[in-house]
Amino acid sequence: MINRARLVSTFLELVQIDSPSGHEEEIARHLTAELKSLGLTVERDTTGNVIGRLAGEGPPILVSAHMDTVEPGRGVKPVITNGIITSDGTTILGGDDKSGVAAILEVLQVLVEQGLSHPPLEVALTVSEETGLNGAKGLDLNTLRAQEGIVLDSGGPIGAIVVSAPSQERIKAVVHGKTAHAGVEPEKGINAIVVAAEAIAAMPLGRIDEETTANVGRIQGGTATNIVPDRVELAGEARSRDEKKLESQVQAMTDALKKAAERHGATVEIDVKRSYSAFKLSEEDGIVRRAMAAAKALGLTPALVPSGGGSDANVFNAGSIATINISAGMQKVHTTEERLAVDDLVKCAEFLLAILELEVGG
Ligand SMILES: [Zn+2]
Repeated sequence: MINRARLVSTFLELVQIDSPSGHEEEIARHLTAELKSLGLTVERDTTGNVIGRLAGEGPPILVSAHMDTVEPGRGVKPVITNGIITSDGTTILGGDDKSGVAAILEVLQVLVEQGLSHPPLEVALTVSEETGLNGAKGLDLNTLRAQEGIVLDSGGPIGAIVVSAPSQERIKAVVHGKTAHAGVEPEKGINAIVVAAEAIAAMPLGRIDEETTANVGRIQGGTATNIVPDRVELAGEARSRDEKKLESQVQAMTDALKKAAERHGATVEIDVKRSYSAFKLSEEDGIVRRAMAAAKALGLTPALVPSGGGSDANVFNAGSIATINISAGMQKVHTTEERLAVDDLVKCAEFLLAILELEVGG
């Protein structure tokens, strides 16, 4: 029932509308018009998200994908070679997450034109997912009726159902040393770069265990070779699907900073902020059962998988909407080698359609 040619042309059209995070105006206008033409009632919330509603029968379901992309994402020129869509190599493709958006549009089109029965749908096309799930965080979940949701924003084989994802803590630190002339009186200085380096070297980083990771991703400091630097800023993160492990990982990182500062008589300001919270669904959850049944009905292999990354599904789950994240077929995202197989795009739409079409309680 999925119209392959139409779906591909929708996808190609979407990726050619520039929408780096924070610049979603044009695509939001485009998608608002598309949803309206399909008979949805559509509003733009104060955060900029596009929210569409389509009446149906039974308990409502939230269906969501994000409109924004990472850079370099302007002037995307999609190329199809042997059934694989890529950019021309100078930009990302934007399949993250326009494959999800395109699949949603195609499924709505099929539901409407074929008059198929389906649950009431709340479609949330969010802004600024890539900069920290900011669109979803700004969405007033009290305006939604759905208690179950489907986000289309992961990779892997179609049929993969992300049922758990980690919490993330962002860690920012400023090491304050003491400046001095590096040649004349270095003994009067406290080198903030040395302090930060010792601290980072002492931190457990990378893959900590199967469900915990940590990284220092940015460091900045110093002005000139002949000046003992008095200030270093660093930014890192820790993630885990287990809150206790996350807590002890953050503790290890902040301890390393404090100890290094202490050894050198420096001081350190540390700011730890919860970026998003973990979720874990199981086969007990209706939406998971529904997705598994739909996958089986299509001859796909349903696989309940954990994710190492956060998505809007973290925010919806934290707001008590049991939300799975399904694969939209995207590969090598956030790189100029990003690619999407047309077959996967079609399968993703078929999967979403099958989940929504499924007899309630079936
Ligand atoms: Zn994404």
